[in-house]
Amino acid sequence: MAGTPRAGIIPVTPFQQNCTLIWSDETKVGAVVDPGGDLDRIEAAIRDQGITIEKILLTHGHIDHAGGADELRERLGVPIEGPHEADRYLLDSLPETGANYGLEGARAVTPDRWLAEGDSVSVGDLAFDILHAPGHSPGSVVFVSRDARFALVGDVVFKGSVGRTDLPGGNHDQLIRAIKEKVLPLGDDIAFIPGHGPTSTLGEERMTNPFLQE
Ligand SMILES: [Zn+2]
Ligand SMILES: [Zn+2]
Repeated sequence: MAGTPRAGIIPVTPFQQNCTLIWSDETKVGAVVDPGGDLDRIEAAIRDQGITIEKILLTHGHIDHAGGADELRERLGVPIEGPHEADRYLLDSLPETGANYGLEGARAVTPDRWLAEGDSVSVGDLAFDILHAPGHSPGSVVFVSRDARFALVGDVVFKGSVGRTDLPGGNHDQLIRAIKEKVLPLGDDIAFIPGHGPTSTLGEERMTNPFLQE
């Protein structure tokens, strides 16, 4: 039987990135999504919730999402799944990117598993389908639980906005196409946690997000 997902958000790094703990209410087994940094605070949140972390998930390769992933993998002894391999160049260059932004300790990351469109990711008794949604970065992925009507969208779409596309590898038209053709069709009732800022639903964004009106 499918578990009931619970989620907790820990804003990390100077970019206030929504590092998210996702776990099953029944089993207390979960995952850390996008541990960009501030690992001591992430580990404290894991202890506070009393959950067992089984894996680390990455939505894409930007420093505020992936900068702490390699060290957290070492600390927790769990594998990293995601993003799509098209973000390999971003993950390889995290130490240089970190130095440019003045962020200490970012390490390059090679995930234990790259994800592609149509893949499925388990977290305890939770199951997520993978959408490849490029445009913000070439390898951005969305994790969606169709059972629980819940998604983790990284920097693809935000409440009232969409991901920036001025960074290397960004493509605005491709991003809007991915949102309209893959993400919104998941259904208006899907609640999502974005990489930054408040949560929303796909229906609210379909109807009010200025970037998604025709
Ligand atoms: Zn990003
Ligand atoms: Zn971000």
